[in-house]
Formats: sequence, structure tokens, C-alpha cells
Amino acid sequence: MNQIQIHDKSFQIFIHEDRILTRVNELAKAISKEFAQEQPLFIAVLNGSFIFAADLMKHMDFPCEIQFVKVSSYHGTQSSGKVQQVLGLSQPIKNRKVIIIEDIIDSGLTIDFLRKDLLLQEPSSISICSLLVKPDALKVKLDVQYTGFEVDNHFLVGYGLDYDGLGRNLRHLYQAID
Ligand code: 5GP
Ligand code: MG
Repeated sequence: MNQIQIHDKSFQIFIHEDRILTRVNELAKAISKEFAQEQPLFIAVLNGSFIFAADLMKHMDFPCEIQFVKVSSYHGTQSSGKVQQVLGLSQPIKNRKVIIIEDIIDSGLTIDFLRKDLLLQEPSSISICSLLVKPDALKVKLDVQYTGFEVDNHFLVGYGLDYDGLGRNLRHLYQAID
């Protein structure tokens, strides 16, 4: 199935499952090399990263732990600004080596917020591992230590990423046809 329809949009295959899994394996090897002695704590950002995080973890063959968080945004009743909060972290991270697992970094604002929020708990380090990064869309300066693929500013679905709730189960990554 090279072309699919979700809601009102058509999508075509952008990165095949085989290529994704090869790259995920490479990322896992690189992370293992750096962290095998450190017992890092992975923090995966829901919802989009759930498949990437699962595949990545399957390739770690050293002691490591994973937690899942959500970064929710809402418009506060008092303030007109966008308020964000981190939900779900139920374990102390003080003096731990933390590796954030994200599906895609677009403006970078979500990860920047999460990173700063986690830093308040004084982990010994925070690294970022994102399957996808859109360098042209970045609005903040962000060091991403592990990037699966740099992509341009097209809307993607599949492999955990959704379009209005659908598409997360697709095995390949698909790009919107405009
Ligand atoms: P940021 O805060 O970096 O702008 O946004 C990151 C979040 O925006 C991602 O975790 C994801 O939920 C969403 N996002 C950004 N680009 C895409 C895309 O191309 N496809 C999908 N499905 N979500 C995206
Ligand atoms: Mg996400």
C-alpha cells in the first residue's frame, strides 16, 4: 500500500519500515556504547513515541529503566499564555543519567520545556533521542544527541505518529501529499 487516505488527506510512503528499524538499531547501539555502564533512565514522551521507544528498548542489552510522560498544553483560565505541564513521572531522577525519547522535534518547544522541567530535579545529565527532527522548523537552540532522521517540513504519520488520532499503527512513515 504505497498511498493511503486518513481523514481528508492523502499520504505516501516516506520511510519504509525496514529503513526505520535499521536506523533504530543503529541508535540503540550508539546509546548502548555510551551508557552501558551507567544504568540510564529512559523517559519516553507519549503518545507519539510509544512504538519508537518500544523498538529502541528491545535493542538495549544492558540494565536500563523506562518511564513514560506526557507534556500537556492547555490554555489556563487566568493567563492568556500557553501553559505546559509534565505528567506521569513517578520516579526520582536526581543524579540519574536521563535519556528523553521523542518521536519528532518540530519547533523544539515541547522538548525544551520538558528538558528544563526535568533539570529542576537535578539529574546528572539529560540526553535527547528523537526519531525525527525538522531542523528548519526549530525555534529554540536544542542539542539533540541522537537523531534518527532529519526531515523537511512535511507532515508525517505512521510508526506512532498520528493525524487527528489515526495512523499511529502504520508500520512505515508516510508523508502528506499536498
Ligand atoms: P514541537 O514542540 O517540537 O513543535 O512539537 C513536537 C510535537 O508536535 C511532536 O511530538 C508531535 O506530537 C507533533 N508533530 C510535529 N510535527 C509532526 C508531524 O509531522 N506529524 C505528526 N503526526 N506530529 C507532529
Ligand atoms: Mg510527541
